[in-house]
Amino acid sequence: EPISDLLDRLSEVVPDYPKPGISFKDLTPVFADAAGLKRIVDEVVAPFAGEFDVIAGLEARGFVLAAAGAYATGTGMVTVRKAGKLPRAVFTEEYLLEYGTAALELHTDDVAPGTRVLILDDVLATGGTVGSAVKLIERAGAHVAGVGVILELEELGGRKQLEPHHVHSLQLV
Ligand code: IMP
Repeated sequence: EPISDLLDRLSEVVPDYPKPGISFKDLTPVFADAAGLKRIVDEVVAPFAGEFDVIAGLEARGFVLAAAGAYATGTGMVTVRKAGKLPRAVFTEEYLLEYGTAALELHTDDVAPGTRVLILDDVLATGGTVGSAVKLIERAGAHVAGVGVILELEELGGRKQLEPHHVHSLQLV
């Protein structure tokens, strides 16, 4: 089964969530499916084989992908978290939301300088979220090996925002 068919079969689209006019792509049923989870994790990581030392997951659905991908590839996993959740010294990067700002944080010592980091998240929309993770990793002196996402909301231009990094998505929507 092509990955696009698997995603169409297992994912759900929720109209008007979290607010009117937004069509929310829900991948939790893919995570819940044994074959589905294995397919998406294996396929999102595959293009970066041999190019990364650790996988960074973006809170919260990125954690699922990053932990599974790290376990499957024998690498470690780093948590990039929403502001205020990490207990020790952090780098902080704010990014723009439709209304206001949000911030992501990374422990200053969770990735050593020179480490090659693969970033994983579920959905790439405007690229603001992944873009702030890129900045955090670069502030730590590490290198972004690439960005893997399951769904790319193409018209929102996230890929352009993340240039020149290698972005791999399993499905354009
Ligand atoms: P961006 O910062 O605009 O690229 O938005 C990406 C972030 O918002 C990711 O962390 C996604 O998990 C979340 N997100 C945006 N749209 C959706 C969606 O339709 N389904 C699930 N998550 C979404």
